[in-house]
Amino acid sequence: MNCTSKRHLLSNFTFILLFSFLFTVCCRLAILVFNNAEVKIESTEASSEIFGNLILLDAGHGGEDGGTVGVNGVKEKTLNLEMSESLEIYLKFVGFKVVQTRKEDVLLYDKNKNFKGRKKILDLVERLRIAEELSPDLFISIHMNAFPDGRYSGLTVYYSPHDERSRFAAELIRGNVVEYLQPGNRRELKSAGSNIYLLDRLHTPSVLVECGFLSNKAECELLCTQEYRQKLSLVLLSSVSSFFE
Ligand SMILES: [Zn+2]
Repeated sequence: MNCTSKRHLLSNFTFILLFSFLFTVCCRLAILVFNNAEVKIESTEASSEIFGNLILLDAGHGGEDGGTVGVNGVKEKTLNLEMSESLEIYLKFVGFKVVQTRKEDVLLYDKNKNFKGRKKILDLVERLRIAEELSPDLFISIHMNAFPDGRYSGLTVYYSPHDERSRFAAELIRGNVVEYLQPGNRRELKSAGSNIYLLDRLHTPSVLVECGFLSNKAECELLCTQEYRQKLSLVLLSSVSSFFE
């Protein structure tokens, strides 16, 4: 994201929202203000547990691997990175340390080694290496879903089966999504199997968020808007903050 779009992102917020962040560091309040809902402040004390915790954001796919393609032609890799960039801004704003596995449109394989036919697996191996080396307090992989039948929609959360805190993080995300964004979402949490390379191997708190279905016209259009991605970022921020409280 360039400077202009960052400025644009922040300019969309009201001063009330910013002051809410600054003086309370209370994500729950921020989301309620954002949605113009009735404000119920459950906790207004700054959460000192937040500060210093490392969040590793992992925008799925990239470069030669576009991921799935939306009904309007948008590539998953692009929206994954947009979401990751947006979430990074919010997380840093309230005091988290944030690292992203990729900040550009690239796959993370070594161009100097033999990568023929192995780009995707080498990319995952490198993401795993980064995650294991950093040992983040929470790993969040960002993806978009797709299905041949365009009726299906809704955010889905997967969690690593190797650390019970992963399921806890996934529960918080799902709970906030249902409460603030998708009241009708009935999608169950899913324990990651061997088909999800990173979550199957990571032994630190790790989740994968399928933000929505690009095969669903309405949801694809929403995910392509900065406003919706900001709302989803706030929901994730609130969940991450609760995870450390
Ligand atoms: Zn994906």
